[in-house]
Amino acid sequence: MLSNGFRVYSNQNIINTLTSMISSGRLYHAFLLYGAKGLGKKTIAEYMAAKLLCENADYSPCGKCKSCKMILDSAHPDVNLITKETNSKAFSVDYLRQLTIDAYILPNEGDKKIYIIADCDTMPPLSQNILLKLIEEPPENTYFVFTASSNAVFIPTVLSRVLSFGVCEASEADCRKAIEDKGIKDKSRIDEAVEAFGSNIGMCLDFLQNDELAKAVALAKIITDAMISASEYQLLKCLYSLEGKRELSKTVISLLSAVLRDAAAIRLGNDELIGCYKTGSDALSKQISLRQAYQLYRQFSTTDERIDGNANSSLNIANLCAQIKKII
Ligand SMILES: [Zn+2]
Repeated sequence: MLSNGFRVYSNQNIINTLTSMISSGRLYHAFLLYGAKGLGKKTIAEYMAAKLLCENADYSPCGKCKSCKMILDSAHPDVNLITKETNSKAFSVDYLRQLTIDAYILPNEGDKKIYIIADCDTMPPLSQNILLKLIEEPPENTYFVFTASSNAVFIPTVLSRVLSFGVCEASEADCRKAIEDKGIKDKSRIDEAVEAFGSNIGMCLDFLQNDELAKAVALAKIITDAMISASEYQLLKCLYSLEGKRELSKTVISLLSAVLRDAAAIRLGNDELIGCYKTGSDALSKQISLRQAYQLYRQFSTTDERIDGNANSSLNIANLCAQIKKII
């Protein structure tokens, strides 16, 4: 971790590139940070903003000047975080047109303005086109940092105008340090989090601080075990416990999809696993064929789509149970 209060772990290449661009005076106006949820993309974006706005020229971001302190408090008037989480209209054409006008207004505090446009996965191409005009001819001293789970969510014309960085998982040592820095010291709980989510700091912290995620992981493990032993009773019991619980069901399904993806990967000889239950995926890979793994994966996707489409919850679960039984 950097010692200036900004909690950026690993991903030193991004920081080095930005530093050398600033010192050579050849700075891009638009950046894209992409990678899975929990890898710290917004934290890196804030770090980048701090580096651009820090009042300390020799050691930036210093973490001590007025500008850095305001960013650390998420209160800098020239650092605008735009996300659908806080504003459901954030990716609408109207909102982004307004942003285009706003971007030309001079900064309040310093000499630069930064827009962090986060979690762009659901931004429609029409809205991306509005931003394209802005990043093609950006106002002087205005910078944009986009974040998304993948660079594939952007139209090629936008991608060609941004400097893209894939954000990586921290090292395991950095991940454990990040968790301890948050005041969590219980080693067995930390081991459990790292076992489920690797070195993804955000997901590990979510697991340790959010009972719902811990509950979803526990359920996904039991359902995986039930699929391994083909225990219909256990399967029904767990799946029916999800009835009427929309968010929990979605989380469990996404965890199970990753477990199935891993089981298929193991069968194909790929050891890059992403799921929360690696030993379960390994055991499952010995019990089911690739075709079965794919069919189950498809079935969970269908169930997830039906949840999004507000399908009747008990009917949806009954259907899933019947299909799993048929497949295994
Ligand atoms: Zn500073």
